[in-house]
Amino acid sequence: MGELEHKYEVEIKEREGRHKLTDKVKDEMKAGGMMDEKGKLKLKGVSPKMLKRMKQEFVECPVLKEDIHFIQCFVCPNFQSRVMGKVLCKGDPLK
Ligand code: SF4
Repeated sequence: MGELEHKYEVEIKEREGRHKLTDKVKDEMKAGGMMDEKGKLKLKGVSPKMLKRMKQEFVECPVLKEDIHFIQCFVCPNFQSRVMGKVLCKGDPLK
């Protein structure tokens, strides 16, 4: 299989404790059907164990130039895949 076209390989980092998604991200996820009204995540193909881990991860996003919750990164239009602890990111400008 050929490699996906991507601009950045962004290292996934981990931190202690739980980290909240911002309300803006939550609203976007609800609108996209990735979160229900109670704030429970509904991500296809992601096991509860995986989800727990994802909640502690973040990336230093090269596009937004800030730390981004991994879940936000996962649902980002630039997200291509996760390979060996890195996100393959298309790197397109985000609004
Ligand atoms: S996929 Fe989106 S959030 Fe993740 S690193 Fe790329 S631009 Fe940032």
